[in-house]
Amino acid sequence: MEPALYIVATPIGNLNDITLRAVEILKTVDYVICEDTRHSKKLLNFFGINKKTTSLHQHNEKNKTDEIVNLCQKGKSIAYISDAGTPAISDPGAFLVNSFHDAKLRVIPIPGVSAVIAAFSVAGLTDHHFQFYGFLPNSKKKAHDYLLKIYKSNIATVIYESPNRVMSTLSEIINIFGEEHIVIIARELTKIFESIKKASAKELVDFYKENKIQTKGEFVLIITQSNSYIDMDEEIILRALKFTLKDLSLSQSVKLVSSIYNINKKEVYNLALRLKNE
Ligand code: SAM
Repeated sequence: MEPALYIVATPIGNLNDITLRAVEILKTVDYVICEDTRHSKKLLNFFGINKKTTSLHQHNEKNKTDEIVNLCQKGKSIAYISDAGTPAISDPGAFLVNSFHDAKLRVIPIPGVSAVIAAFSVAGLTDHHFQFYGFLPNSKKKAHDYLLKIYKSNIATVIYESPNRVMSTLSEIINIFGEEHIVIIARELTKIFESIKKASAKELVDFYKENKIQTKGEFVLIITQSNSYIDMDEEIILRALKFTLKDLSLSQSVKLVSSIYNINKKEVYNLALRLKNE
């Protein structure tokens, strides 16, 4: 087998989603490196792959990489798998891959499932453009800033979300995009309790309030394109707000400035808040 790093996609729930080629590669390579050896053992056992494994995860990726590069330089073939889906997609692997590029060694993708692609394929967005953000930052303020960036980008955006944050992220989407904004939620993809919901952010919040059990599991959110954002020079809006805030209340200023420039009230409100907090 050709000495190389094989980046192998594995299922995100349903084990039948592995490809024939992935199984063949995992059976044939000299080494299988896993994000978590105990986790991947189940998958490898299921396919009768009995191989010595070692781990490479976000905390040891930098230390372990040299060792793996050396193995390949000595003619060994190596497969890397993350816990689920495609490595290096909101998962470890990118550092390892890059080190192989630097060492002029071959990197071979073994494509398969990724939650981002599975979710987008059932979103029904006829304008095919989208961007992928992965996980929003943990800090509330940074997550807000990211969502604002997404709003301004005017591009449908796929994000990964954890179950304990899905409600607060939906509320933040309402704050920035408005409660009528359409969001697609793909939950527990390929698993028994899979559900795909396409509705306004408000309808989704109401649904999850009524069905708390459905806030458990794994989530992909697709925030549809914002359309309403008009890319205007922030400086102009800030200058107008500074002027109006001298005589008017915050809400009056926001109303006036947003109607003069014909831009989204939430956007102007955020700028007005920024001015107030300065
Ligand atoms: N590398 C993986 C991929 O290619 O999709 C993603 C790994 S990331 C650490 C895990 C996140 O992916 C989850 O928190 C969730 O947002 C999303 N995800 C993974 N499996 C999923 C599933 N079965 N249904 C919905 N989302 C899933």
